[in-house]
Amino acid sequence: MSIIVFTNMITTPIMAAELNNKNNLPDNSITYVACPEGGKHNMHSIGYAFIYSGPSSANPGELLLHGGNTNQCSKCGLYVGAQFCPQTWGFLGSYTMGYNVPYDGSSYYFYGGIMGEYWSLTEDSFIQGFEWLF
Ligand SMILES: [Zn+2]
Repeated sequence: MSIIVFTNMITTPIMAAELNNKNNLPDNSITYVACPEGGKHNMHSIGYAFIYSGPSSANPGELLLHGGNTNQCSKCGLYVGAQFCPQTWGFLGSYTMGYNVPYDGSSYYFYGGIMGEYWSLTEDSFIQGFEWLF
């Protein structure tokens, strides 16, 4: 009985620390409603997207999305990695985004997991902040 109590005392703070890590990575509260250079992001399809669950190339975790589509804003440089090419399909499916995304040729590698899903390019003010150009 005393062993069970002792175990709970040890595991509880560890679980709390893990929960904090989960809440911090990735930061889903980031919103890029407008381009920092002004107006909407001017997105251009530039290559393939690979999205990993881990935080970095040194610790990539699981490959969540293989051979998706990468767009980049020609004004601020923001990358969006998505399951589908929005210019072709009219939606993203699963997506993530970031600046300074590592790449190899036309393959772009995103870390920190999937931020969410979009099945329309007009469903809210966040996605309306992007213009999907060829
Ligand atoms: Zn931009």
